[in-house]
Amino acid sequence: MLRVQAVAPDTLGAALGLIPGTQLLAVNERDLEDFLDWEFLTADDQFVLRARLPSGEEIEYDVERPEGLPMGVTLETPRIRRCANHCDFCFVDGNPLGLRPALYIRDDDYRLSFRYGNFATLTNLKPWDLARIVEYRLSPLYVSVHATDPVVRRWLLRNPEAEAIVPQLTWFAERGIQFHTQVVLVPGVNDGSQLVRTLADLYGIGTAVLSVSVVPVALTEFSKHDLVRQPAREECRAAIATVNDFAQRALAERGSPWCYGADDLYLQAEQPLPPAEWYGDFDQRENGVGSVRYLQTRIAAARERLGAGDWQGKRIGVVTGTAMGALMPQVVTGLAAATGAQFEILTLENSLFGPSVTTAGLLPGATLLAALRERSDLDLVLLPAEAVNDDLLFMDDVEAHALAAQLPMPVRFSYDFADALEGDPRAVGPGSAVADAVSERLTPGRRPGVGGMA
Ligand code: SF4
Repeated sequence: MLRVQAVAPDTLGAALGLIPGTQLLAVNERDLEDFLDWEFLTADDQFVLRARLPSGEEIEYDVERPEGLPMGVTLETPRIRRCANHCDFCFVDGNPLGLRPALYIRDDDYRLSFRYGNFATLTNLKPWDLARIVEYRLSPLYVSVHATDPVVRRWLLRNPEAEAIVPQLTWFAERGIQFHTQVVLVPGVNDGSQLVRTLADLYGIGTAVLSVSVVPVALTEFSKHDLVRQPAREECRAAIATVNDFAQRALAERGSPWCYGADDLYLQAEQPLPPAEWYGDFDQRENGVGSVRYLQTRIAAARERLGAGDWQGKRIGVVTGTAMGALMPQVVTGLAAATGAQFEILTLENSLFGPSVTTAGLLPGATLLAALRERSDLDLVLLPAEAVNDDLLFMDDVEAHALAAQLPMPVRFSYDFADALEGDPRAVGPGSAVADAVSERLTPGRRPGVGGMA
């Protein structure tokens, strides 16, 4: 059921008299199942909407949309499609006990894949879903392939029912749907010759597969270490060599590398990252692919505006996880040159998930508090914006303002540094609000590596 959560003033929804709690039943006599139906079926200039007001009164609206007037309706949060798989490396299994319930949800939802770029396995699609992906042209989708050998893929997903992925993607490709894909690299299972086969099969589907990333499996202290392990340095190097082979071929034949290793793969292989140009439009940067180069690009682009900010001589702490700690100097050098500030990289070990969890986006509030509460020598600290959800809660339910109130310096959330450092530093006084940059959050439904990692 689709229900209205809020209606913006001066919009079509307000003019129709829709109010919070209104049930949206059908458009042009097609029942509304979710936000996709709502957005696609109300995109026309004329349609008939059937709705039930909170009073119980059912109304049929004959809508003629004045040009440029938005519907302005915010819907209640949709029910997330649950995952049908049981991967040994699932992050949900890697969570400690006692976190908020949302962090134990295994989502695998093609609708969020289309909307936010969450990766989905497509193993829970019904015939009705296939039809609407094609009808609504939900493209590109972000698909976790992992392996194209059906036996190996079923093993990785722990799902004997998982359909063969190559025919499935081919079927969609023939109907105009495109994909960004990923392979989570599990040593001894889908690396080596399996990785070669997977990349060859995906390349063979044609240009509908826009990109493929190879991401080393990420485990926490609580993961099933008896069943799955991190790749060793040589295994990461071998995977990079395979990625490079396909990338060179794609570059020659299709004009772009197509196949990318995640930054973490290079880090674990102890090999240098490719240059920024390699990543094109950074299509998979939120999957940790080209993130460092993307940051450098953003800082270089904002250089002039950063220079105007009068940060000269300020002492700024930059919080990061152990994954990026070693790479961060490459990023901060450009920032220091642009702003004249002194930057200190604060590489923090995750006290909630254990040291094997190295991403900054999973740092809990308690780790930040312990590292920062005595640091009165800093003028400002930049925190990773990915570390909080839309309610400004860290993984351990510490709220961002509550954290800031206990710190001796102001803090700002930042995705790419430029977002937090453009503008007047005087706006960053002691006790200043922490949420400035969070209001700029890019994709509210997307938390790479958290729950929705299908
Ligand atoms: S990793 Fe993704 S696909 Fe696998 S069980 Fe977890 S949520 Fe499902």
